[in-house]
Amino acid sequence: MTPAGETICERYARVADRIARAAARAGRSAADVLLVAVSKTQPVDRVLEAYEAGARAFGENYVQEAAGKVAALPGAQWHLIGRLQRNKAARAVSLFSWIESVDSARLLEEISRRAEAAGRVVPVLIEVNLAGEGSKAGVAPDGLPALLEAAAALGGVSVRGLMAIPPPSGDAEASRPYFARLRGLLERCSPRGGGRGMAELSMGMSNDFETAIEEGATIVRVGTAIFGSR
Ligand SMILES: *Cc1c(COP(=O)(O)O)cnc(C)c1O
Repeated sequence: MTPAGETICERYARVADRIARAAARAGRSAADVLLVAVSKTQPVDRVLEAYEAGARAFGENYVQEAAGKVAALPGAQWHLIGRLQRNKAARAVSLFSWIESVDSARLLEEISRRAEAAGRVVPVLIEVNLAGEGSKAGVAPDGLPALLEAAAALGGVSVRGLMAIPPPSGDAEASRPYFARLRGLLERCSPRGGGRGMAELSMGMSNDFETAIEEGATIVRVGTAIFGSR
């Protein structure tokens, strides 16, 4: 719940506190969970407000929409969390620290090519479509080993882990089996990660980030609970 009268600062503090308590319940340190404030549709002044409240990592779904915000806050860590078209890969590499939504070998190759041209190695996550939802981005769990093998041969990307969005539900508990499944996939395919260590699990949004942390999330992507409803 995000009462309308609350400021971004108050909401951010509440989310940070809930993260700390969920981590403690799971016997984990809050420092091991990165809060990515999802700022899509939010204007720059509200993004700056979240920065002042303590947010240091931000998530955006679209390259074009992110450009002005990244320019206003170049010191923050920007994560691309939405579907990336290959013809925007160069722009994405120039704007984002992390690309969390990679789901094909062709996209990996294009990001790597653009990253090498820019003299970077881009940390990426592989997005997994856990429930086989036709409309949704993400590689099927079966396709993961081949994708990781392809990535291991590329010099401009470093696969750091997995990302997923469970089927929408009002109930955080409904997401728990999906979060556990993503953790299981990560554990099984880590040795293929290319030596740098696939340790990141990006899972959990406003409705279910505490459950995700209990299941091992290292990155949570939270929009509404910080900025209010879009
Ligand atoms: C919008 C979005 C979020 C944040 O969703 P909230 O429910 O507002 O917290 C997280 N991850 C992805 C990929 C998104 O598109």
